[in-house]
Amino acid sequence: MNPIKFLEPTNFTEAISLLDQHADDAKIIAGGVSVTLMLQQKLIAPSALISLGHISNYAFIRHEKDGLHIGALTKLRDIERSDVVKKFCPALAYTFSVVANVRVRNQATIGGNLSAADYAADPPAMLTALDARVQVQGAEKNREIHLSEFFLGFYTTALEPNEILTEVIIPTLPSSASAAYHKYTSISAEGRPCVAVGAVADFDNDRKCSDLRIAVGAAVETPQRVRDAETLAHGSTLTDELVAAIADEYSLRLDPLTDVRGSAWYRKEMIRVFVKRALEEVRCDR
Ligand SMILES: Cc1cc2nc3c(=O)[nH]c(=O)nc-3n(C[C@H](O)[C@H](O)[C@H](O)COP(=O)(O)OP(=O)(O)OC[C@H]3O[C@@H](n4cnc5c(N)ncnc54)[C@H](O)[C@@H]3O)c2cc1C
Repeated sequence: MNPIKFLEPTNFTEAISLLDQHADDAKIIAGGVSVTLMLQQKLIAPSALISLGHISNYAFIRHEKDGLHIGALTKLRDIERSDVVKKFCPALAYTFSVVANVRVRNQATIGGNLSAADYAADPPAMLTALDARVQVQGAEKNREIHLSEFFLGFYTTALEPNEILTEVIIPTLPSSASAAYHKYTSISAEGRPCVAVGAVADFDNDRKCSDLRIAVGAAVETPQRVRDAETLAHGSTLTDELVAAIADEYSLRLDPLTDVRGSAWYRKEMIRVFVKRALEEVRCDR
């Protein structure tokens, strides 16, 4: 067997040209947390690994006019600890703080976490609720993809084979809005989520809900919003009854999967519980 070539481009343009040269036979490696496991388990057998480790200037967190910009090569640990992120949206910093354990967070990048499209992940649900989008560089053009259109299925994204995720952009929330992230683990506290719920709600001066976005992840193939359930809240106060009705609707409408972390039936019950808890948190914040 030929040894795997380890290529170290110093910018994304060079990385994309290497992807083009190797067609389907090369794999991008960022933090390497998923890639090394896939290699070890012989799930992939690339002829070349294209490391993003020598690309500078893409590990950044900046609050700009249109929102928070996070470079693809930013480590999860840096996002969790960033004062800019904590000020921008405490629930977002919290989301990154509950990914796996500190060793994983010190190594993994946000670009790798999203591009892996692993359903059992934390950031996708919160970032979908926050209406985030990703910037993508390709050989001929750059484009933006809303996260709602980025995750296509199990381990599958809208990225073309020669495209690289370069940046995540999270629109600024109105000061009247509130966000919450709830992770439920069924095996160990540091485990992957069995159910992941990101919620964002905005309120008018009468404490009536003017906007609600709830994304459920980990229990389903890709983060899911139930628009009909969200609109139940519009123009209304989030009473106990309304919160319960929205949580029921999420549980009823989603079609969860069964895996080692829980059966489909169990996940339906947990979706109800954790959507309710997330809503209670955003309601109490305002
Ligand atoms: C023990 C363990 C526990 C875990 N628990 C959790 C958890 O609780 N919650 C959670 O969310 N995750 C969890 N994970 C998953 C972990 O967060 C991801 O493996 C990690 O974030 C991947 O990031 P990385 O930078 O290491 O990506 P890599 O492993 O380098 O890459 C992952 C994939 O993305 C591609 N890729 C990487 N960067 C880019 C880019 N910029 N553009 C395009 N493609 C790219 C690679 O080709 C590969 O297919 C866990 C992992 C382990 C090993």
